[in-house]
Amino acid sequence: MQDVWKTYKDGTDALRGVSVRIDRNEFVYVVGPSGAGKSTFMKLIYREEVPTKGQISVNGFNIGKLKPRKIPYVRRNIGVIFQDFRLLPKLTIYENVAFAMEVIEAPPRIVKKRTLEVLDLVGLKHKQNNYPTQLSGGEQQRVAIARAIVNNPAVLVADEPTGNLDPETSMGIMNLLEEINFRGSTIVMATHNKDIVNTMRKRVIAIEGGQIVRDQLRGEYGYEI
Ligand code: ADP
Ligand code: ADP
Repeated sequence: MQDVWKTYKDGTDALRGVSVRIDRNEFVYVVGPSGAGKSTFMKLIYREEVPTKGQISVNGFNIGKLKPRKIPYVRRNIGVIFQDFRLLPKLTIYENVAFAMEVIEAPPRIVKKRTLEVLDLVGLKHKQNNYPTQLSGGEQQRVAIARAIVNNPAVLVADEPTGNLDPETSMGIMNLLEEINFRGSTIVMATHNKDIVNTMRKRVIAIEGGQIVRDQLRGEYGYEI
């Protein structure tokens, strides 16, 4: 990002001149108080929002200036997971994951092979025929992770992925994210989880009032609670 500004329609300046470079295969925590601009920062990366000013390039694409027909190409290079999982309730676990490949028109044989492969990676192949409500929160998040990585994205964006999970389950999710990072995906994760940030040391980018106020390698959470 180069001097990125984001002003919402109502005039709120959510980001005010953010410049940062995140390299391939980094694992970065984004921290800061509520309302600081973390979600906006994440949304700009996965092109849910576009910058008001400045440049963003993700995996070689200038995503602020993308032509609409190019958006699917960029999206398939970016996996996203959320605090509230966002699985499709009427689809099985298998179908939730396979769907992400079907929308990019992957060949059926590949869809099946790869879907089972990622369900195995997250330890939920045996639950492939269950529905999301039949799974615990931690299991649902693992399905969401499987769905996010099924198309082999270069970047995984995680907006408070452990926000709804107990500490032990959260650590399981973190170990999985670390494994995915180890396998070659860049990970950008917004979090309020002080214990995780201070235990599993990574680069920490702190945002306050829409600006980056701290950027440390093997950093710490740096806020109370
Ligand atoms: P964080 O994720 O750190 O809590 P956000 O990026 O969600 O911060 O929000 C940054 C600022 O932008 C806040 O003041 C928030 O109220 C505002 N904001 C976020 N989304 C919108 C929106 N769609 N329209 C107007 N203001 C918004
Ligand atoms: P947690 O304590 O993590 O919230 P749960 O008590 O929700 O876990 O679930 C414990 C185990 O039982 C999990 O493996 C979950 O998949 C399974 N389970 C929970 N509810 C159902 C259900 N309605 N049908 C089938 N399996 C279920």
